[in-house]
Amino acid sequence: MQLNYIANASLPSVSGKTIPVIDPSDGQVFDEIQRSNAHDIDTAVRSARECLELVWSRFNAAERGRLLMRLSAKVAEHAEELALLEQRDCGKPTKQARADAAALARYFEFYAGACDKLHGDTIPYLDGYSVMTWREPHGVTGHVIPWNYPMQIFGRSVGGALAAGNVCVVKPAEDACLSLIRVAQLAAEVGFPAGAINIVTGYGHEVGDALARHKGIDHISFTGSPAVGTLIQQAAAERHCPVTLELGGKSPQIVFADADLDAAIPAIINAIVQNAGQTCSAGSRLLVEQAIYEPLLQRLGHAFENLRVGPAAMDLDVGPLIRQSQQQRVWDFLSDAQVANIAMVAQGQIVDEAPDTGFYQAPTLLRDVPATHRLAQEEVFGPVLCAMSFKDENHAVELANATQFGLVAGIWTRDGARQFRMARRVKSGQVFINNYGAGGGVELPFGGVKSSGYGREKGFEALYGFTTLKTVAVRHG
Ligand code: NAP
Ligand code: MG
Repeated sequence: MQLNYIANASLPSVSGKTIPVIDPSDGQVFDEIQRSNAHDIDTAVRSARECLELVWSRFNAAERGRLLMRLSAKVAEHAEELALLEQRDCGKPTKQARADAAALARYFEFYAGACDKLHGDTIPYLDGYSVMTWREPHGVTGHVIPWNYPMQIFGRSVGGALAAGNVCVVKPAEDACLSLIRVAQLAAEVGFPAGAINIVTGYGHEVGDALARHKGIDHISFTGSPAVGTLIQQAAAERHCPVTLELGGKSPQIVFADADLDAAIPAIINAIVQNAGQTCSAGSRLLVEQAIYEPLLQRLGHAFENLRVGPAAMDLDVGPLIRQSQQQRVWDFLSDAQVANIAMVAQGQIVDEAPDTGFYQAPTLLRDVPATHRLAQEEVFGPVLCAMSFKDENHAVELANATQFGLVAGIWTRDGARQFRMARRVKSGQVFINNYGAGGGVELPFGGVKSSGYGREKGFEALYGFTTLKTVAVRHG
């Protein structure tokens, strides 16, 4: 049984209740986590506050950096153990689970190096005055983490917050807690003081809600659905608590006729099948210039047919979806596609070894999806790619911007001037030209516009969000 991790100690919830942990590869229960409540959140927030005031605020930036670097090394040392936990808990194929553990180590490494480079400005002002700005931590930060990339999102969110001098209370998704409990234990082993990193597990509507409402939380970082993002903002608004929101997307891959298709095709496929499509930055809409629409769909169709789906430990192209309700959600979208006569170009194969009790979905390529259909508008969060054609650049921009989201856009063209025109005109937080998120992008500021949220995590930019600016004006005559 898994316990909460509060003030460097493993604690049961005061509720006395637990939640079963399910392996998405076979649908079977293999562990349990605490079903925590508002009392547990309160304990964690108090521990965090005490740590902040008595211990953590005395660590200078270089010391915080050294500690984060030790944690990075510790995570790297335990990468295989963490990857196996994530694989079982979230159904990630081995290579993806390993990549996530490596990314977690890299986030800590990046933010370790960033701690002592974060500084304010001096500002020219009236004669006889000196004015400066200080970057100060918010204090106790709350982190609501989704189930799709628990280690990566913990790395970017908690790594950045700690680097900036905050302490953290973390609520992982109930479907994905195991790796994060272990990382918090590893942090204690390398010397993070009791209360700097606290993990409280449970249901979002119970413990997540309690976290969002707790008066002792000074900043909230949330990654998840737009609907819950609204609830978080509403709760935070009651006490004017700042929030950073990353709410997913319906990101377009825009392919012009002059594109290098040999480079584009593997990136387009990876962007929709990685983590079984359960990726906020999934390239879920394929916008193709008319002249190459048919040949590109043909090539992609062959590639989709060869994709294999199966248990995480088999390390195939695609693993299971996280849970039965997510599988049902994808089925609902696909049955809507049938009702609307949206044609399927191709589907991958679920291997015979995949148990019927697992949550599998074959990658699916749909064509001529009307831009207004919910398949082209809403986040499916499954391996479903929706293709449509465009006639010219203006039409491509119009389609690209025609959803409520604006997280990432991929642009494939050899025309340099067009690359820049398109990058300017698409409404999104990130634009990739002739690549799509290669290299993990730990260093690259990430976040959305419109209903994809606001605020930036990843990269150095995140540190501004995890601090507040104090302006100090001194009159010295
Ligand atoms: P979700 O409900 O938004 O879950 C995200 C996180 O918020 C989880 O930790 C969840 O906890 C927590 N949460 C849920 N209700 C809450 C509340 N009332 N107050 C505070 N925290 C709360 O997302 P989901 O239901 O798991 O997935 C639904 C859809 O959201 C997906 O199909 C996908 O479209 C989107 N999504 C996007 C991302 C992304 O990276 N942008 C990530 C996940 C999901 P529990 O899970 O423990 O309840
Ligand atoms: Mg699980």
